[in-house]
Amino acid sequence: MTQRLAGKTAFLTAAGQGMGRAAALAFAQEGAQVWATDINAEALATLDHPGIRTRVLDVRNSAEVALAAADIGPVNVLFNCAGFVHNGSILQCSEDDWDFSVDLNLSSMFRVTRAFLPGMLEHGGGAIINMASMASSLKGFPNRFVYGTTKAGVIGFTKAVAADFVKQGIRCNCICPGTVDTPSLRGRIASAADPVQAEKDFIARQPMGRLATVDDISPLLVYLASDESKFVTGAALSVDGGVTI
Ligand code: NAD
Repeated sequence: MTQRLAGKTAFLTAAGQGMGRAAALAFAQEGAQVWATDINAEALATLDHPGIRTRVLDVRNSAEVALAAADIGPVNVLFNCAGFVHNGSILQCSEDDWDFSVDLNLSSMFRVTRAFLPGMLEHGGGAIINMASMASSLKGFPNRFVYGTTKAGVIGFTKAVAADFVKQGIRCNCICPGTVDTPSLRGRIASAADPVQAEKDFIARQPMGRLATVDDISPLLVYLASDESKFVTGAALSVDGGVTI
């Protein structure tokens, strides 16, 4: 433990499992006071660290998001992590599928950032980190139509916020992970027609020949949350085992 985030308060969405959960623990281990939020109360209950407080929050609910920002007050670090992978091309994407993915993957970032940014500005700035993906935002992949569309939107959102607030101490970056071994990835593998082949296919995406673990991702998130990245803003940083070489 090196206390790289000592004195900082961090707010995270989708922190119940996967990369959000790992980031909450990594931030707390580096000395941050962490607000870990998720729609899933049971998942949040497994987060056991003295530096972590939890709150059930549905990022699709504007009123809940506004209330959370009012209750919690200013934060130094905001990690917008929530997102969902829809499987299918444009022809398998209904209007409801489109609306759901755009809302959860992209509009939630607008909602949460809009709620927390004024407090960050009042306190002289802070670091916003958004969850994009390499899949179909930096590189096209089959059956990631609406997912890739929204994650490309996350990159645009990130650059727009970075440009607007660069003079006011706000840094806004996003990360573009390759395929990460998380509960939802395991669900995608299990629901495939041939799960053994599906896992091989997911692994084969990465030239490094393996899936990422959440521990491959957290160090980049700690870096972006910390003052070590003080000259970094508007970046879309790949952490993808060589997918986008
Ligand atoms: P995950 O998908 O296993 O878990 C997602 C979490 O989001 C769950 O705890 C869930 O309860 C929560 N959640 C769902 N709807 C919510 C809502 N409305 N409000 C608040 N929380 C909600 O975790 P993961 O695989 O680490 O994915 C996290 C993010 O990373 C997503 O945005 C995903 O698109 C992105 N991503 C994942 C991968 C991957 O391969 N796993 C790769 C690149 C990017």
